[in-house]
Amino acid sequence: MSEPKERTDAEWRASLSPEQYEVLRRKGTERAFTGKHWDNHEAGRYLCAGCGEELFRSDEKFDSGSGWPSFTAPAQAGSVAEAVDTSHGMRRTEVHCARCGGHLGHVFPDGPGPEGLRYCINSAALDFDKK
Ligand code: FE
Repeated sequence: MSEPKERTDAEWRASLSPEQYEVLRRKGTERAFTGKHWDNHEAGRYLCAGCGEELFRSDEKFDSGSGWPSFTAPAQAGSVAEAVDTSHGMRRTEVHCARCGGHLGHVFPDGPGPEGLRYCINSAALDFDKK
């Protein structure tokens, strides 16, 4: 398998589940309250389901009520990259894995922490590594 940044669409399709592929490579959105992580309260790390990079931690996870795993900050500055998303008649900030480019979700300016950010992330984009 080639490096994450250089992986072809066929390689991604072969290495991901259909749900992971739809979210990570096609910018899909899972239905709220259907993913495996939104109600997870265990301590641990959330890794990119595409490349394994650590993206979020349970320390920054909070209950947003949205039905998607929600965080006030990424694990490290720079592990998550942003882009403007004007699809569906809205202007939102899309977030993706800085290492492999996989789509994760969006970040909104209505979070509870000192930064006021809410990272709204698809469960399908994340693997959980229990502490
Ligand atoms: Fe990644």
